[in-house]
Amino acid sequence: MNLSTILESNPLGIRWIDDGILYRKPMEFISSWSHRGLSAYQYVCGHCGLHNVSIVGFVATHRVMSGPSNLDREAYIYICSNCSRPTLVVPDQPYSPRPKPGDNVPNLPEPVAKLYDEIRASIQAGAYTGAILLARTLINHVAFDQCGTEGTFKKQIEALDKERLLPKGSKEWVDEMKDIGNEVTHELKICDPETAEHVLSFTHMLLSLVYDFPNRVPKPPI
Ligand SMILES: [Zn+2]
Repeated sequence: MNLSTILESNPLGIRWIDDGILYRKPMEFISSWSHRGLSAYQYVCGHCGLHNVSIVGFVATHRVMSGPSNLDREAYIYICSNCSRPTLVVPDQPYSPRPKPGDNVPNLPEPVAKLYDEIRASIQAGAYTGAILLARTLINHVAFDQCGTEGTFKKQIEALDKERLLPKGSKEWVDEMKDIGNEVTHELKICDPETAEHVLSFTHMLLSLVYDFPNRVPKPPI
């Protein structure tokens, strides 16, 4: 193969032209995975969300052509010491999957817990518009769970506010969420990551105040 004909060389494989014909060679043909002891790697697991130091996994060594010489590169799969699921680590790149954004909120009932987890998973996957629609649905559930209120989003927000479940100053925040949700639903707006993170922060605060903090108050002795 003439080196001057190489079009692309990266961890996924190489592409080159020889005598006018385009060739491709994916990574699996030029690498092999092996199991061996690895250097300790610290990360927050994208599957279970726990901070974890792993020394167990696999390494792939693959040779890529770079200019006139070959380079040996390595990629790793670390196994989480808590949930045993895999994380891909490529040097100089963010590991994958990344942890879900936002923090856990204890003491959530179903389906509030499930919806909150889906909002975080949507943002993790880059589905920002979907995350905002889910956040509205989650507030519907909170309003029904806490106030027994059904109906429009506006009506549910008013019920939460009346029950003093919305912290001071947050009514405007929820109104903004209503506007964002309306824009997404009726004006076909696509949301950006900042708006989705913003909505997630508010959702976390609301759920903590409604469900978690009341459970932290010490119970009087019987
Ligand atoms: Zn894990």
